[in-house]
Amino acid sequence: MERFDKKIWLSIPTMHGDELKYMTEAYETNWMSTVGENISEVERLMKEKVGCKYAVGLASGTSALHLAVKLAGVSQGDKVFCSDMTFAATVNPVIYEKAEPVFIDTEYDTWNMDPIALERAFEIYPEVKVVVIVHLYGTPAKMDEIKAICKKHNALIIEDAAESLGATYKGVQTGSFGTYNCISFNGNKIITGSSGGMLLTDDESAAKLAQKWSTQSRELAPWYQHKDVGYNYRMSNVIAGVIRGQIPYLNEHISKKREIYNRYKEGLKGLPVDMNPYDADNSEPNYWLSCMIIRDEGMCQQKINETDATYISEPGKSCPMEILEKLASCNAEGRPIWKPMHMQPIYADNDFFTINGNGAVAKANSVGRDIFNRGLCLPSDIKMTVEEQSKIIEIIRSCFD
Ligand SMILES: *Cc1c(COP(=O)(O)O)cnc(C)c1O
Repeated sequence: MERFDKKIWLSIPTMHGDELKYMTEAYETNWMSTVGENISEVERLMKEKVGCKYAVGLASGTSALHLAVKLAGVSQGDKVFCSDMTFAATVNPVIYEKAEPVFIDTEYDTWNMDPIALERAFEIYPEVKVVVIVHLYGTPAKMDEIKAICKKHNALIIEDAAESLGATYKGVQTGSFGTYNCISFNGNKIITGSSGGMLLTDDESAAKLAQKWSTQSRELAPWYQHKDVGYNYRMSNVIAGVIRGQIPYLNEHISKKREIYNRYKEGLKGLPVDMNPYDADNSEPNYWLSCMIIRDEGMCQQKINETDATYISEPGKSCPMEILEKLASCNAEGRPIWKPMHMQPIYADNDFFTINGNGAVAKANSVGRDIFNRGLCLPSDIKMTVEEQSKIIEIIRSCFD
């Protein structure tokens, strides 16, 4: 296979020009701090878009999640139910507060938290008060089921919508389902500020508290007066300028991502593979990353250890590592599926709930492990041309020759 001259990326920033205008405005008016018009505008536009009453601009999605965990009242020793197959940033804030994440397995329909496994977890730990859910790769989770279970058990939802900005479930934007919701403007997300994040909520006092905590928890006083521990988590007005310039392009980015997904779906037909699934009747993803999963009959032998993987290539079959290596050798970037949290050394002793058994058996038979073994993320950058994508598809097809 011939190499791409220019690297084909998984997902990198796509700038349009307005970003520089708003950054320059911040510079020329000297609002080069964590105060300014770009921040207020980005907060206004995002709460309108997502449909929450209040928005607090923050330094990152992770800081938004941390403040959400604090607002939810999570404290030392508390168990918190968390999506299992996700980026570690979803759950790290639970650890910051010295609480204990309990992981809930994934379902095959949307690759998000399995409501049935969640219900099982509540049977064992009915006292749990907080559930952190993610919409992986921009695909909405089964929100009706998850909301009903949380309501029944009197638990509140923290929504990690870092990857799913603009995705909807039954016509409602993700990032508006939880009591506290988080989005991210990290460099590889659907729109970006280079970094940045936001907390969204309908609770006015929570929003005020988050804003106060994010700016070192100063009380109203002539001097630096503190009742609470503070953080330096506020969004920069320069970063906000980039985000402000990106917001008008959110829908354009989503439709390009959708085209990429559909071209993969079409182009990979006939191979023993499927695209990352979504509930077409009830949801519209933002298609942030296109992923594929190899059916059992299409998997060659593959062995995954803690830090490396080996495989035995076979005609008609392949595996994620073979495809990723082939893509890399052609100067294209794919990525493994997020390695589930219950498989991570740091969380080896944490509880885990699946519909496929209990204890060690559960961890061995989890849906998350299966998707991790058979799935991968494909190059999904919106600057990839149709021709480049056709070549990516050819490379993938060649792995099954
Ligand atoms: C990117 C991401 C985050 C963290 O956002 P940052 O802005 O990078 O801190 C959290 N959760 C998920 C699922 C993400 O993909």
